[in-house]
Amino acid sequence: MTGAAEDAVDVIVVGAGPAGIACAFRLARAGRTVVLVERGTSAGSKNVSGGRLYTYALEAVEAGLAAQAPWERSVVREQVMVMDGERSLTVSLAGGPASTPGLPTSVTVLRARFDEWFAGKAEEAGALLATGIMVDSLIEEGGRIVGIRAGGEEMRAGVVVAADGVSSVLARAAGLVGELSAEAVGVGVKEVIALDASVIEDRFAVGQGEGAATLMLGCTDGVHGGGFLYTNAASVSLGVVASPAGLSGSGRTVHEMLQALKGHPGVRPLIAGGHTLEYAAHLVREDGWRGVPRRLTREGFLVTGEAAGFVLNLGYTVRGMDLALLSGIAAAEAIVAGGDLEHAYRAALGRSGLSATMRAVRGYDDLLQIPRLYRMYPGLALDLAGSIFEVGPEVPRPVRRRVHAALRANHLPLRTVLRDGLVGVRSV
Ligand SMILES: Cc1cc2nc3c(=O)[nH]c(=O)nc-3n(C[C@H](O)[C@H](O)[C@H](O)COP(=O)(O)OP(=O)(O)OC[C@H]3O[C@@H](n4cnc5c(N)ncnc54)[C@H](O)[C@@H]3O)c2cc1C
Repeated sequence: MTGAAEDAVDVIVVGAGPAGIACAFRLARAGRTVVLVERGTSAGSKNVSGGRLYTYALEAVEAGLAAQAPWERSVVREQVMVMDGERSLTVSLAGGPASTPGLPTSVTVLRARFDEWFAGKAEEAGALLATGIMVDSLIEEGGRIVGIRAGGEEMRAGVVVAADGVSSVLARAAGLVGELSAEAVGVGVKEVIALDASVIEDRFAVGQGEGAATLMLGCTDGVHGGGFLYTNAASVSLGVVASPAGLSGSGRTVHEMLQALKGHPGVRPLIAGGHTLEYAAHLVREDGWRGVPRRLTREGFLVTGEAAGFVLNLGYTVRGMDLALLSGIAAAEAIVAGGDLEHAYRAALGRSGLSATMRAVRGYDDLLQIPRLYRMYPGLALDLAGSIFEVGPEVPRPVRRRVHAALRANHLPLRTVLRDGLVGVRSV
């Protein structure tokens, strides 16, 4: 790297996650000189994800990419598991049409492998990937961002793109975002547990190359959060995400919650005999559209991906990678379009459907903020389901009495349930 202005490239993209790689790929395809800077020794080496990717977004980067991507399994079974200390109730949905003909709607990926492959595609398209470089700060001249500093060296560009993920140092340095509050994020831990492919297919009732995505509610000791279990080719990814604000009052760590989940009777048989290959921890944005800053650009600078808050946690799925891809494409389109960067970026985000998607599910945030969803409703659901299967010498109780008993046992007045139900209906 050098400080000489004549060595400037068109664009520096900081961060080789899905957003940064998609942006660099599209810029290179448009004939721009682009350097993709990544602090990890390879793309994906610093990235944690439960690993479920919606294929439509990869196809939006370039048609045909999804079929080439190194996925683990296509998701053919969607599951929601509601649990308490001992019990679990699983709702399982299999089948359904694909959103893109000939492609599964979603697939599981291991990020180290996927990101490295994707970054390779950006390099093939003409981007220069520079790994092992941690960007420290931005160079600003006369109110315009003109480059980056890393390890005492400088590099200049017409535009700098911050795709540096959840706690973006660069978006903060540019004054576009403030400090992340504890309410805005979840802290996630995940283990990748090795299992034979045939064992996975038997346990999750899926065919060869097929997999399941399971989201879990009630595994966070009443703290806002949940668990996930995704099947990879020869491993499963098991994790817990919980609100740091809730954790500080609970006296439990998210690591302890994950260990308890591994021993839960509903999960233990699914991972029995497996051994842990990898353990990782990471933050994830949880504030939806509310977390997207009012301005996404400055002169010579643009923020994209999770750095810009483009993540949706809907309870039954986390959509970070697909929105990162869409926003990376939009960032590239805005830079290529030229003119007013903010206007061009907002227009491209609008065309991609990202802004409308995030706004459409704004109400889910209200639903997910209901504390009883994590403390009491799992118990209520399990008590009600359990009462259906109650058989004994006594005469069966009428349904009305069973419902009242379950409400009482879970300290839930009917009024509260109806009010929460209304929030739920409004939010969807
Ligand atoms: C536990 C967990 C489970 C999740 N599950 C899913 C899921 O199943 N599906 C899904 O779609 N999303 C999921 N997400 C969210 C998803 O992982 C992210 O939203 C997505 O990766 C964001 O992409 P990105 O490109 O914006 O940022 P990232 O993928 O975070 O990439 C940012 C990159 O920037 C690099 N970087 C950061 N700072 C610097 C710097 N100063 N200099 C150089 N490089 C830098 C990082 O090393 C990293 O490679 C999950 C997240 C967590 C934590």
